[in-house]
Amino acid sequence: MEGSMSDITGAATKKFNIKGWPRTSDSMSDAIGGTPLILLRGISEATGCKIYGKAEFMNPGGSVKDRAALAIISDAEARGQLKPGGVIVEGTAGNTGIGLTLVALARGYRTIIVMPETQSREKIDFLRMIGADLRLVPAKPYRDAGNYVHVSRRIAEETPGAVWANQFDNIANREGHRRTTAPEIWSQLDGRIDAFTCACGTGGTLAGVALGLADASRAAGRARPRIVLADPEGSGLAGWVKNGDLTPSGSSITEGIGQSRVTGNLEGVTFDDAEKIPDAEALELIFALQMQEGLSLGGSSGINVAAAARTARKLGPGHNIVTILCDGGARYQSKLFNPAFLRQKNLPVPSWLQDEM
Ligand code: PMP
Repeated sequence: MEGSMSDITGAATKKFNIKGWPRTSDSMSDAIGGTPLILLRGISEATGCKIYGKAEFMNPGGSVKDRAALAIISDAEARGQLKPGGVIVEGTAGNTGIGLTLVALARGYRTIIVMPETQSREKIDFLRMIGADLRLVPAKPYRDAGNYVHVSRRIAEETPGAVWANQFDNIANREGHRRTTAPEIWSQLDGRIDAFTCACGTGGTLAGVALGLADASRAAGRARPRIVLADPEGSGLAGWVKNGDLTPSGSSITEGIGQSRVTGNLEGVTFDDAEKIPDAEALELIFALQMQEGLSLGGSSGINVAAAARTARKLGPGHNIVTILCDGGARYQSKLFNPAFLRQKNLPVPSWLQDEM
């Protein structure tokens, strides 16, 4: 007989290196993190490097932001700021709101989520579905008082007992990645990492992983990996890394990334390079990863993988490069995977993608 139960559990134990599998968890928080590091075959073969994606779309809330949400809520609890029944307020492109709301549900809190109305229908619907008190606001630049971040801060100030998550400047965000994401990557590759590429929204993932990999390298007496910023059009950060100029230009259909200020989470991080990635280049990779490797991903993952591919070409064959697969494609069906939307943005429509019936 093929595949007895003990064969299956044996294989799983070996594959995931889980001690004492199967195990139980006390809550959904335990399901955050511990994600696989997946070899991206196509671009690895094309570049002669090994390019790995950290599968953050596998978190319970479907994105890398579950880690920040858990870290921020745990930090507020430890400081005594969050009491049972308390309210967490945040401005977000959506994923942090989803992570915060799910962790809040598990721990007996409520959330008020402020989000620009330009973000994908799917994220908005999901936030409504899980009972967030959702406040959609017009998209405004950070310098404008109506920007979603400032609106969320004011709501937190006006709501008795509320905690403002403040993911951009609250470094509990990056510390979460420094404590979990970075050591996971380090142990998954036994420290053999030459470069890490990542886009920046708050900078929590990028800075936390960069700092955590530097910590681990120092402890092992090795040189730290190269840190490469992956930047979409419309963001000022690549210019800042290269020549200190933060002025943004252009625009992108990607969500949750791009920045025109140095956030608290980004402060003190040393960059070795920056790659400015046009949407068309990111989309081509997203479509290839989905149709050739079965990895359905969102736009920021495409920016990250494109920067990893460019880094591989710059470094030459034989290097190990790690990037982040931030969330899944299903969160953007109405945009990145919608022929009408792509045509409207003058982006190529892949042949397998059919118009809605
Ligand atoms: N990708 C997606 C899809 C996101 O929602 C976000 C967070 N806004 C990021 C990437 C960026 O992550 P970070 O905030 O840690 O920089």
